[in-house]
Amino acid sequence: MDKQDQLNSLNALMSACSKCALRPGCKNVVPGEGNANAEIMFIGEGPGAKEDELGRPFVGAAGKFLDEMLGIINLKREEVYIANVVKCRPPENRDPLPEEVADCWPWLLSQIKIIEPKLIVTLGRHSMNRFLPNAKISEVHGKALRREIEGVGKQVFYTLYHPAAALYNGGMRETLIKDFKRIPKVLEKIKNEEK
Ligand code: URA
Repeated sequence: MDKQDQLNSLNALMSACSKCALRPGCKNVVPGEGNANAEIMFIGEGPGAKEDELGRPFVGAAGKFLDEMLGIINLKREEVYIANVVKCRPPENRDPLPEEVADCWPWLLSQIKIIEPKLIVTLGRHSMNRFLPNAKISEVHGKALRREIEGVGKQVFYTLYHPAAALYNGGMRETLIKDFKRIPKVLEKIKNEEK
């Protein structure tokens, strides 16, 4: 089975998941989308209203901003993979609870194992904290950090502010765009180190 077939099978299983309390309150499971062979995987927090409606990640205002920033570095969303820490929308867009994050973790772990991205870009504090539990986003944004994920091995993470948080905050927006523009360099460095 190629990676796309593996993701298709995984998505079917995810769509039937009712492990945590979020599923009954949402319209659609939002597994993630993009290139199964992507070098870069973006991981957000969880679906919002628009994502829940369409069953696709980052398709609302934050998603438009993400698409814009991808354009700045000459990437299309079809070339990367975009997923979330939780696949079902938390009610009223509240933060996902630790038990919801824990219940959804095996899905995200499976996605990472199939895609084998060279770089994981976390969007926002919640995504960052899933992988870097003690990190403060104000300190680590725009930095590439290599960490071990149990079941995956060594992985490079690059932490960004969440596009939704930065959308209406001029200073944060500027910082996010500046950090985002460094992604190609970070990826190039990882590839050079692999040689
Ligand atoms: N915010 C997220 O974290 N994920 C989405 O898919 C949309 C908005």
